[in-house]
Amino acid sequence: MIPLLDLRAQYRSIGDDIENAVIGVLRSGHYILGQHVESFEREFADYCGTRFGVAVNTGTSALHLSLLSAGIGPGDEVITTPFTFVATIAAILYAGARPVLVDIEADSMTLDPALIEAAITPATKAIIPVHLYGQMADMDPILAIADKHGLVVIEDACQAHGAEYRGHRAGSMGLAGCFSFYPGKNLGACGEGGMLVTDDENLANSARRLRDWGQQERYHHVAKGFNYRMDAIQGAVLTVKLAHLEDWTEQRRVHARRYAKLLGGMNSIGLPTELEDRRHVWHVYAIRTPDREVLRRALAENDVQTGLHYPIPVHLQRAYADLGYGRGDFPEAERASREVLSLPIYPELESWQIEAVAKAIKRDVYVQ
Ligand SMILES: *Cc1c(COP(=O)(O)O)cnc(C)c1O
Repeated sequence: MIPLLDLRAQYRSIGDDIENAVIGVLRSGHYILGQHVESFEREFADYCGTRFGVAVNTGTSALHLSLLSAGIGPGDEVITTPFTFVATIAAILYAGARPVLVDIEADSMTLDPALIEAAITPATKAIIPVHLYGQMADMDPILAIADKHGLVVIEDACQAHGAEYRGHRAGSMGLAGCFSFYPGKNLGACGEGGMLVTDDENLANSARRLRDWGQQERYHHVAKGFNYRMDAIQGAVLTVKLAHLEDWTEQRRVHARRYAKLLGGMNSIGLPTELEDRRHVWHVYAIRTPDREVLRRALAENDVQTGLHYPIPVHLQRAYADLGYGRGDFPEAERASREVLSLPIYPELESWQIEAVAKAIKRDVYVQ
């Protein structure tokens, strides 16, 4: 079986360092926040090219606290895309604001800047572009629209650690950038984790208070906060892993190039592309095909595991029916959700495995 993702392969390569880091935390007797989390915050903020990093327990919490710290709440509208993981929309609802959805571009599958202005109302306060699959949204026009209308931009960079747009790292272009360290993300904890990065000191201070019950000092609560703190073990593990992230990203990029070379030129298979001026970090390698279910079954029969990111856009999910959207409202997102098929990609994937995946796809396509 060629898996979509193999976390054990990564663990085998750096297991000793991780175990030493974890044992260090266990012996320290200090298990929440503390020096391991602080040094990871500094190193990851530095990696993103921002001044501050506030570590939290999940990427969803990073989004939630970024919105609250930017002053967004009930009565406000936040523009984002329906072609994302539900957490983006959930975080807007947690903040008490209303998600307003805008369709994606056909090529990048990220928020379409050309459609944003029509969705702006007097209640609009923020835009959340989602850097889907590891490629940044078209940030320059998005920032220009935000600037013109006095809106805040918060980047959902949960899939885009180290991605770049015109030389700017993901997370560094908006007021805040939000990352997830869920185990399967490009930088993954041994458990849950997240961080918001920002250049804005006030926003960082607010988020730091809110993640720890709104405490200014112990038992002095100046805001109604949350328990969104990061564990020391995750801070220590992530510090070890961050040192490898650039190598891992380069390996993902090599794999994507190999897929493109092997799969190019087939009419019924659309390949994902790295757009000009961007550095794609290939969290997901999703091809597109109108006959997705047939291909998915054929690959499974050939022991190739695939994934669907995502089979139903958020506006058509039952839980979010009350947003008030329906079928046909976002044609590109709906088409993408029918056509995308994620192939195995992770740093330790071997070239023979990529060749086997490509061969299985070709066999199926030519049989049809
Ligand atoms: C993973 C993810 C999140 C949520 O991160 P968690 O750490 O699971 O809370 C949010 N947005 C996107 C686009 C994601 O991929």
